[in-house]
Amino acid sequence: MDAPQTLAGLLPRAESITVLTGAGISTDSGIPDYRGPQGVWTKDPSAEAMSTIGSYLADPDVRRRAWRARRDHPAWDAEPNAGHAALVELERAGRLRALITQNIDGLHQRAGSGPATVIEIHGTMRDAVCLACGLRTPMPEVLARVDAGEDDPPCPECGGIQKSATISFGQALEQDVLDAAITAARSCDLFLAVGTSLTVQPAAGLCLEAVEHGARLVIVNAQETPYDRLADAVLRGPIGEALPRLAGLALGTAR
Ligand SMILES: [Zn+2]
Repeated sequence: MDAPQTLAGLLPRAESITVLTGAGISTDSGIPDYRGPQGVWTKDPSAEAMSTIGSYLADPDVRRRAWRARRDHPAWDAEPNAGHAALVELERAGRLRALITQNIDGLHQRAGSGPATVIEIHGTMRDAVCLACGLRTPMPEVLARVDAGEDDPPCPECGGIQKSATISFGQALEQDVLDAAITAARSCDLFLAVGTSLTVQPAAGLCLEAVEHGARLVIVNAQETPYDRLADAVLRGPIGEALPRLAGLALGTAR
């Protein structure tokens, strides 16, 4: 497969691109992934309990650790990088129709991606939600209570356990969000998977939906993925370099 030639043929003709991003696009912004060599769970396997709904509900100590981890999360100080910016460029040119992300860091929106374009299938760490009554609160308001000494701040409405508005292990995805992602995968002419190992559902299955509905598939990821064989082109290079190049090809401004 000659990736450069394939891409030069595919990108300029792609009129309706759906992008799927994973942790790999945010590592250049200083946000570690979970399972990579420097990953959060690789370095501290017990941290995974904070992302498992059963442990979170059952163990106040897990919740206290989770609140501290939310407060100290590198995303609060992180800046979007050239990869995020390239997707904004594609969207503003009317070529990118949907941006599905597995990331909870909100960096796509910070970079300028439209709120209606971004589909956060794993939720967002920028809001907190009450697991009892569903009350949603901006996360900084709850973290201010943590800073003020509440180590596991309960819901101000009902006293229930609160959590970041993210999907933990053991929690179902939001059906309307999942439906939007599937529609975006089925209706695009090019599906671009970036910085995701494509091993977690439903993200992985979205590639298949796209291909089965006639889209071309381009994968940008440091490691092999189970979908590489299905792809029209696979790029291994750094995402912060690969995405601006792809956007340049698509927009005829190749650098
Ligand atoms: Zn509540």
